[in-house]
Amino acid sequence: MGRDFRWLPHTGRRHAISTDLLPGDTGQTLCALPLIVPRRSPPKTDWCWPTCPDCDLHWRRHEGIPPYPRPHGHPSTQALQGAPAPRQSTTPTPRVSP
Ligand SMILES: [Zn+2]
Repeated sequence: MGRDFRWLPHTGRRHAISTDLLPGDTGQTLCALPLIVPRRSPPKTDWCWPTCPDCDLHWRRHEGIPPYPRPHGHPSTQALQGAPAPRQSTTPTPRVSP
């Protein structure tokens, strides 16, 4: 199907590995963790492990999928939108004339 990566449970996370890696091969995940591709399919429960965020990011970048959650501008701009600018009262300071 022209996919370059597949997902594989490894050390408590689901990592992405190259589809070129065959069972028994020594390689590494997309997040650069060394691994040996297991010869038998991992147990079903392993597939419930959380997705490795690094592999997810690399994979999305490769596939041209925007990362999730989608960046909504820069974090600092969000803070600016959320917080109303503190305004001092517009009343002029009374001048005490001698
Ligand atoms: Zn990973």
